Amino acid sequence: MTELLPCPFCGGAGRFSRSLDGEVVNVRCAEWGKSCMGAGPNEYSEAIAAAGWNRRTSPLQTGEE
Ligand SMILES: [Zn+2]
Repeated sequence: MTELLPCPFCGGAGRFSRSLDGEVVNVRCAEWGKSCMGAGPNEYSEAIAAAGWNRRTSPLQTGEE
């Protein structure tokens, strides 16, 4: 199974979230809908959804050193 990187916005854990009809899946931040709106693209497979989510986890983490 693909490893999910931390949320690029808040550092929270990523979690798979499937649509109500079960058609698509994406990865959302554990804090999604609460303090964070971090979410990956809707895809038809968890592997692709994970890749889309992981791609987003780059810039934003500047200024921490
Ligand atoms: Zn987040």
